[in-house]
Parts: sequence; C-alpha cells; structure tokens
Amino acid sequence: MRFLPVFLDTAAGVAVVIGAGEPALGKLRLLRAAGARVRWFPGAADVAEEMLALSGASPLEISLADPLEADWSDGVAVVSAAGDPLDAQIAARARRLRIPVNVVDRPELSSFIFPAIVDRGEVVVAIGTGGASPVLARRLRELIEALLPARIGELAELIGRHRRRFAAVPRALSPRRFWQNVIAGPIAEATLAGRSAQVEAQLVAAIDASGARQSAVARDTETVFLVGAGPGDPDLLTLRALHALADADVVFYDELVSAEVLDRARRGAEQVFVGKRRGQDEINRRLVAAARAGRRVVRLKGGDPFVFGRGGEEVEYLRNAGVPVVVVPGITAALGCAAEVGLPLTLRNEAGKLALITAERAQDAASIDWSGLADRQTTVVVYMGLASAAAVRDGLIAAGRDGATPAAVLARGTRPDSQAAVGRLDQLAALAAEVGEGPAILVIGEVVARCAPWRAAQSDASTAREAA
Ligand code: SAH
Repeated sequence: MRFLPVFLDTAAGVAVVIGAGEPALGKLRLLRAAGARVRWFPGAADVAEEMLALSGASPLEISLADPLEADWSDGVAVVSAAGDPLDAQIAARARRLRIPVNVVDRPELSSFIFPAIVDRGEVVVAIGTGGASPVLARRLRELIEALLPARIGELAELIGRHRRRFAAVPRALSPRRFWQNVIAGPIAEATLAGRSAQVEAQLVAAIDASGARQSAVARDTETVFLVGAGPGDPDLLTLRALHALADADVVFYDELVSAEVLDRARRGAEQVFVGKRRGQDEINRRLVAAARAGRRVVRLKGGDPFVFGRGGEEVEYLRNAGVPVVVVPGITAALGCAAEVGLPLTLRNEAGKLALITAERAQDAASIDWSGLADRQTTVVVYMGLASAAAVRDGLIAAGRDGATPAAVLARGTRPDSQAAVGRLDQLAALAAEVGEGPAILVIGEVVARCAPWRAAQSDASTAREAA
C-alpha cells in the first residue's frame, strides 16, 4: 500500500484548482460538493464567466492571476489539470510549500490521489487501487454501494450528536459495547427506515440509563456464538458469522479453522487456540468464564458446529451453565468439497440418499453397520476417514457394495492447496495415500463419476489409450 487513505478537513483552508478542462471541472465539482472553499485558476477568462453563473454549495473564488505566483498560504490541497508544462511546475511548487498535490491522471506528479468514493453523508468509503485500475475501483464502489444501507449516514449523524452526552454518564458499560448494542438494535433499525426523529428520545433515554447498572455486582453474562467457520475459504463464511466475528472480544478456535477465516475477526479480539490437545471440559469451562466476564465470545469451529463438531455438547454445557448461546451454521466439509469439484451429492434417479458418517480409527469403521449404506443409490461421505480408508472399503464391500463404485478422496477442500483423488471403492486406501495430508473426506457413490476430477481422469485415460 503506497497510498494511505486519509480524510481531508475541507473546512481547514482553501482547495486550489488549476485548469479549465473537464478533468479540472470534475474535481472542482467534487470539492465543492464536499463543502470545500475552492480557489480556481481557470487560466482563461471566458470559462470563468460561465462558471461564475453556476451556483454551488460552497464559496468559489476565481482568480486570473498566475497560479505559480499566487498566494497559496491558506491552501490545504492543490489539484491541477492544466496540462504540460504547467502541471509539473504546479506540482513542484506545491511540494515546496508542503501542500498535498494531485495532478489529474498523473500519479507520478501527485502526492495524493483521489479515491473512488461511496458517499452517504457522514459515512464515506474510500476505495483505491493505488492508481492501478480506476475501473476496478469503480466496480468495487458499485458493490459497496449495494451493500450499505441508504441511511447509514443518518445513523452516523445521530450517534455523532449524542456521543458527548454518553461520555458524560458514569457507567457500567463500555462505550464500544453500548454503541454496538445501539447499532445492532431497534434504534438503528428505525433510523435506517427513515424514522430517526421518532427514536432520538429513545436513544437519549438509553444513554441516561446506561449508567444505572454501575452499582451492579456482576456484569451481564454475554452470549456465546457457536460459529461454523466453513471448510477454509473465508468467502464461504455466512454473513451472520462475519457479524459475530466483527463483534467478538475473544475467539476460541480449532486447528481446522483457517488463518484467512481468523483474519475476519475484529482487530483487537483475543484469539485463543483450543486445538486437539485441550480437553473438552477445559474448553467448556473457558467459554463459560469468558461469557460471565462480560466478553463477547465466538467459538469458531471448522465446517458446521453441529456436524461432527461437538457443537451439541458445548451448547448443552453452556445452557446448563445459564450462558445464552447462538449457533451460526457453517458450510460443512461435505458440501464445501462437493461444490468445489462439481460433485452432486444427490441426483435424481442416481443418488436418493446421503449419509454423513465418521470413522476416525479402523475400530470405529468396524463398529459401523454398513448394511444400511450398501445400496447403489446412497452417497456415503466419511469424515475423519483418511487413516481408516481400508476399513471403510472392507466394510462397504463386505456389506455388498460393488467394489467398482466410483470413489473420491477430497483433501483440504476449498483451500489453496486442495486436492482430489478419484478411482474405485476397491482402490480407496490407495486414493487416501495419494492425497497425503488431511483434512480430507472420503466420498463413495455413483455421483462421484459426475465430478470434474473424475471426468479429467477419464479423458486422460482415453488420451493415454489413443497414444498407446
Ligand atoms: N464440523 C466439521 C467437521 C469436523 S470433523 C464440518 O462440518 O466440516 C473433522 C473432519 O472434517 C476432517 O477429518 C475431515 O474429514 C473433514 N474436513 C474438515 N475440513 C475439511 C476440508 N477443508 N476438506 C476436507 N475435509 C475436511
């Protein structure tokens, strides 16, 4: 990042604009719309006449003096689109005077560049690509425009008007927590729906009441969010998971949670690794302790918390301890991996049943009733089955499943180093060995023949036959 976004106080002085072409006028309009006082050096009297007639939101001074000689002592920024050689001279002068300068479309002469802007009143989003691609910046702007509520600026204003009042109240609640509650609650909802006038009194009342619990012995127990992190790709997080992560004070996470997902947690949130070696009891106790200390807890688990994730046990423990818990679902490994390779887990007339099972050790596989999984129309997905692939193969075949059934081992699904090995059920152990490192799922069923790696393997085989 070479260009750091900062926000310029347009009230602090005068913005100097040089040039009379469309690029200069564009910046002139932008600066005036932002409320800046502008001193304009159009360089030609007739254009100035025309512009004088234009009304604008902010004062506009027009000067026909030489911009290289004029007084810039009250300048906060200089924008030039005068063309050669004046632009370079203007840039040099601005740098000498230590005033930020932008030469339109000439980043090499500029000490600042204009970002693409999403403008919602007090809420402004600046988007930059370091000057590399204005088209990309505009595309991002469209996306962000669509994401932001239209009245988000009004919400910011409302909060801005009352921040000082809040600061004056001695209180039990941290400002961050208080405003988080406001932003996530009915006051914000009404404001975004255009009814801010009706809820302003409510906000004032909430502020005045925020100090009331100051003498309370214990702080309120916070909620634990049991959040599914999905299989690895952070784009597969749900919006609700993102919100929970953005609000977290502390995140307890497993080894299956990818670094990219953890990156989405609020900066400043404590991150606590509670991997395999920690006992479940200890994890449960720590979740309860953190929530009781009034911290917003996110318990982040790979995939979905309720699919082989011990989510059920944690929810029960928390409920028994009187800690409120919210479960946020995640994309389970089977769904993430299947989508990645184009493998339909069910398919009309071909696969009418989907079984998610787990077989961490060979003896787990031995205790499974395979007879229920032997019919041709069942797609079987085995979690934690990498080490027991041979036992899974034997169990299914002994129960009557055809050894020629298509099978796949999908490893590190949705991650940059994901890998798929495809073949037949009777080759399952070899396929597992092929992918090496987990996490991985085993998939057995006719539908495996529909996935992309299978098709690629078939066409490789036919190319090889042709070559032979
Ligand atoms: N709750 C998780 C499963 C936890 S059990 C979920 O819903 O996905 C751990 C097993 O999940 C691993 O042994 C592996 O079988 C599977 N798994 C998790 N992430 C995976 C990934 N990215 N690719 C393939 N398998 C994965």
